[in-house]
Amino acid sequence: MKTATTYVHAGATPDPSTGAIMTPIYQTSTYVQSAPGQHQGYEYARSQNPTRFALETALAAIEHARFGLAFSSGVAATDAVIKLLQPGDEVIAANDMYGGTYRLFTKVFAKFGIKFTYVDTTQIRLVAAAISPATKLVWLETPTNPLMNITDIAAVCQLAKPQGIKVCVDNTFASPYLQNPLNFGADIVMHSATKYLGGHSDVIQGCLMMNDEVLRNELYFIQKSCGAVPGPQDCFLVLRGIKTLHLRMQQHCQNGEKIAHWLRQHQKVAKVYWPGFEDHPGYSIAKQQMRGFGGMISFELKNDSPEETKRVLSSTSVFALAESLGGVESLINHPASMTHASIPREERLKNGLSDHLIRLSVGIEDAEDLIEDLAAAIG
Ligand SMILES: *Cc1c(COP(=O)(O)O)cnc(C)c1O
Repeated sequence: MKTATTYVHAGATPDPSTGAIMTPIYQTSTYVQSAPGQHQGYEYARSQNPTRFALETALAAIEHARFGLAFSSGVAATDAVIKLLQPGDEVIAANDMYGGTYRLFTKVFAKFGIKFTYVDTTQIRLVAAAISPATKLVWLETPTNPLMNITDIAAVCQLAKPQGIKVCVDNTFASPYLQNPLNFGADIVMHSATKYLGGHSDVIQGCLMMNDEVLRNELYFIQKSCGAVPGPQDCFLVLRGIKTLHLRMQQHCQNGEKIAHWLRQHQKVAKVYWPGFEDHPGYSIAKQQMRGFGGMISFELKNDSPEETKRVLSSTSVFALAESLGGVESLINHPASMTHASIPREERLKNGLSDHLIRLSVGIEDAEDLIEDLAAAIG
């Protein structure tokens, strides 16, 4: 099946009892058994829920994976991956990534004896140099949040896999419509479904997709044992979001391209971070592993004073000042004080995330209105 058809139909089979075309929200905690141990495959809703299973089937299909698992948030999905590890194991992680992932690694898991090494994963030789006999996992994010750095997924997999190291890619920024890391050798794909998959800023959810059945069973065991499962209504919302993911992503990409180019020629703008520029250091890799460049853009003003940055951030009217991304509506965000405030300032600056960086999640409104809004705000 082709992409658009998969997105509309994956996971959805008419309800056998009524013919309802939409998967019902099975709002139940348990299932009645006809005799002890005699049931229809459903015992308790932390382990099995039909709405969640329908979503997990769809998640697998859109990421070209054999299996999908849904979690109560993106960080809960990340948490499950790290729980595959043991004390003494080492993880190589990207030095520029979502602040909440960094916080989970440094503030929660480091104290259980798991070691995290942060490297610039866009430089394969630095990843190679960081590998030790204890390395068990490479955690990638590409494009990165918020600097839009591109890591060559296939090159990292070619390096890590022969050494028995698993590779997990946070694919939130690209969405499955633009990039499928499993096709380049990754073992696990992680998404914050809160973002493009849900797409309407009305749900918190995460997911993992994978091809290996043993790995799937280990992660399913963690999912039900630790219990970070999403509720059925949230599963319904993400399932509905997926049906229009292809249409939304096309518009995010079109608007993103227009705004990135407009910003770049603006005399008050110093730098624009967007992987679709031919002189972006990751452009050729992005061309190879992505089908489009998405709607995430970061930029810096020439006047980098805190006052001016704050003024622009507070002056838009279509772009809403808020954390998060990937919804139909456009958002503007200040990573240093909002999404990435949990990363220590020296660490941020070292990785190129300045105090005056502004991040845009370009929505699916009319590009002309969005440009007019930014023009008025930047002045
Ligand atoms: C939002 C986000 C997460 C965390 O997901 P939640 O659903 O907020 O828990 C992880 N990675 C990236 C890239 C994100 O943008």
